[in-house]
Amino acid sequence: MRRLTNPVVLEKLANRDKKYLWHPLTQHKTSAPPLGIVKAKGALIWDEEGNSYIDGIASWYTAMYGHCNEQIVTALIKQMQQLDFVMFSGFTHKPAVELSERLMEILPDNQKKIFFNDNGSTAVEAAIKMALQYYHNQGEKRDTLIAFEDGFHGDTFGAMSASGLSSYNGPFEDFLLKVERIPVPQEENIDEVLESLEAIYKNNSCAAFVFEPLVQGAAGMKFHSAKGLDQLIKKCQKAGILCIADEIMTGFGKTGKNFASDYLENTPDIICLSKALTAGMFPLSITSCSQKVFDAFLSEDVTKGFFHAHTYSAHPLGCAAAIAGLELLNSEEILERRTYIEKEHRIFVASLKSHPKVREARSMGVILAIDLDLDTNRYGKLRDKLYQFFMDQGVNLRPLGNTIYVLPPYVITDEQLRKVYDSIRLALETF
Ligand SMILES: *Cc1c(COP(=O)(O)O)cnc(C)c1O
Repeated sequence: MRRLTNPVVLEKLANRDKKYLWHPLTQHKTSAPPLGIVKAKGALIWDEEGNSYIDGIASWYTAMYGHCNEQIVTALIKQMQQLDFVMFSGFTHKPAVELSERLMEILPDNQKKIFFNDNGSTAVEAAIKMALQYYHNQGEKRDTLIAFEDGFHGDTFGAMSASGLSSYNGPFEDFLLKVERIPVPQEENIDEVLESLEAIYKNNSCAAFVFEPLVQGAAGMKFHSAKGLDQLIKKCQKAGILCIADEIMTGFGKTGKNFASDYLENTPDIICLSKALTAGMFPLSITSCSQKVFDAFLSEDVTKGFFHAHTYSAHPLGCAAAIAGLELLNSEEILERRTYIEKEHRIFVASLKSHPKVREARSMGVILAIDLDLDTNRYGKLRDKLYQFFMDQGVNLRPLGNTIYVLPPYVITDEQLRKVYDSIRLALETF
């Protein structure tokens, strides 16, 4: 018997999408319609026409253990049937307790407390509020943040203030927190950056230094010196300024170690985690801090507590996904893949060193970035063309301006990784 079908349902997702949806980071007047995605598995995603794409950036570096990872899905189902959700004020639960215990095993030693939020921006927002209140509770008003040029920390007001990418902040510039910026340290400018840092805290009342450690993601996977960052942190801490490491992009193995902070001797006071924390399965984030920070909120006076909460704080499903993810992070199977990707990235980078269209190629851990030496005026909207070019090859890469970057799920196969490199080589020949 022929079924009657609803004509609306037969229409493509992209067309139905247009009617009611407003997408993030999108100029709807000029942008191409979005692609309807119906399925994902491992390093692949499928569109509604049945075409598959290699997710070369792990869907904004979240799905590091592969999409629909069975171990994580199973953990989520189990949790969902046991305890879906309960408020995290007045109550606690096993997934949150267990996750805090597991994280303490791998976070830098000085991290002692875990505060839950539900996305990256709100993790940074909480970190900034913690820093401001840390001083407030001690009777001090410190009103200035220090941050790197071109950093990205999220889209809520505090996080946006710390961010230095003007394309995001433009209309809101007049409404932001007070922030002083320093350039990122490279081997050759460490002393100058240290001097400008000193000038800033001598002339302002600085509460915190907020930074993406070692790699600035949204700026185009820009690397800076670990030695330089170490010295900046040391100097800040000596001057009583709290250091906030935004490890939302770098966390959970991407730089080669569990956290970028593991490359540092001077550990941050506060660390923000999200994205790969839940392996792309659930929105959740964490702001961890040292005992010193936590202790500044202890008082007989109730208002000295941290009165900041999100309804979905410590969602049990997110916690369950995070615990399952942590089991995988340094498992034999994933470690083998991480080592493989790192090695292949290095070989690919070396092969591009003297390419006439490559200004710089670099890699750290599983992060690979290639700055193109192409005249953007001549190629017009080069970035959009590159994006479409890669999609036509069946590879999801989202170039940041002139920078092509790859940050694949750890489970990407040898063959899939080769296809990603091949599509980049082909792009270099074509553009
Ligand atoms: C993605 C990101 C954020 C913001 O996280 P959201 O979950 O998108 O709010 C903040 N900082 C860094 C370094 C990020 O990569």
